[in-house]
Amino acid sequence: MTSDAAFRFSGPSDLHLHSNHSDGTESPAEVVRQAHAHGVRTFALTDHDRTTGWGEAAAAAAALRMTFLPGMEFSAKHEWRSVHVLGYLFDPTDPALTAETARIRDDRVGRAERIVRNISRDYELVWEDVLAHTTADATVGRPHIADALITRGFVRDRTEAFESILHPRSGYYEPHYAPDPLTAVRLITRAGGVAIIAHPATAGRDRMLPVSYLERLIAEGLAGFEIDHRENTAAGKRTLRDLAVRHDLIVTGSSDYHGLTGKPNRPGENTTTDEMVSRLIDRATGIAPQYP
Ligand code: AMP
Ligand code: FE
Ligand code: FE
Ligand code: ZN
Repeated sequence: MTSDAAFRFSGPSDLHLHSNHSDGTESPAEVVRQAHAHGVRTFALTDHDRTTGWGEAAAAAAALRMTFLPGMEFSAKHEWRSVHVLGYLFDPTDPALTAETARIRDDRVGRAERIVRNISRDYELVWEDVLAHTTADATVGRPHIADALITRGFVRDRTEAFESILHPRSGYYEPHYAPDPLTAVRLITRAGGVAIIAHPATAGRDRMLPVSYLERLIAEGLAGFEIDHRENTAAGKRTLRDLAVRHDLIVTGSSDYHGLTGKPNRPGENTTTDEMVSRLIDRATGIAPQYP
């Protein structure tokens, strides 16, 4: 089952990459160059809760004759779980969607300041240390606090920071505002986009959303799951694959690259099949991909 779209782009396809417009360590142009250097030919830029990197990524993609799918990773939560919903090819000017992502981004700033204040009880750390690691309008997150802790010499890398000072049970953690996944799926879908749950089966007790809840999301327009991702468990992947077959969903595989020093994930370490990229493109009505 192929469509016209399959003839207009070329794999390998990596549909989940972050730049310094959120918590990646590289500019959008550098991310695109790294993706190309790792053999990727079709990619999506999916910064957390913002789309400001799209222009630079599109220009870099054109220069390297790559196919670019504009995207975003929407922060949501269900009960105690942080749920990330990838949105692809939605209209970036949709008023409801932009209002909600602005609200999430605004609350993330105050939340990061609260975490820094908590940490400063025990470590010499000030808000300016964190600002030094963010670009002017980046979506602020714990990775930027991690970078400040590295500069101060309290941890070696982001991984160590997340396992210690930034861990939710460290005593310093604060949550940020995020809507329910149902809201995220509806906003993306109504803006003409395709909603895919990112890394739905990461390890940890009761981390995966219950199947009954996933089926409610599917009824609201959820298009599929990111199954091939280094953080999904083998058992979780099996459950998701069964569900995807039963509901004829799109399944993707992606790296979740955050820059060479941001995370060990490398572009192209997981990829999405041409058939699934075609289905994703055909389903979207918000904005077209950029072909070479
Ligand atoms: P936040 O959204 O501020 O709570 O931070 C979560 C973000 O931190 C996620 O989007 C990940 O990209 C990043 N992250 C989570 N764990 C790690 C880790 N062990 N090393 C580097 N980055 C991480
Ligand atoms: Fe991230
Ligand atoms: Fe994520
Ligand atoms: Zn991500």
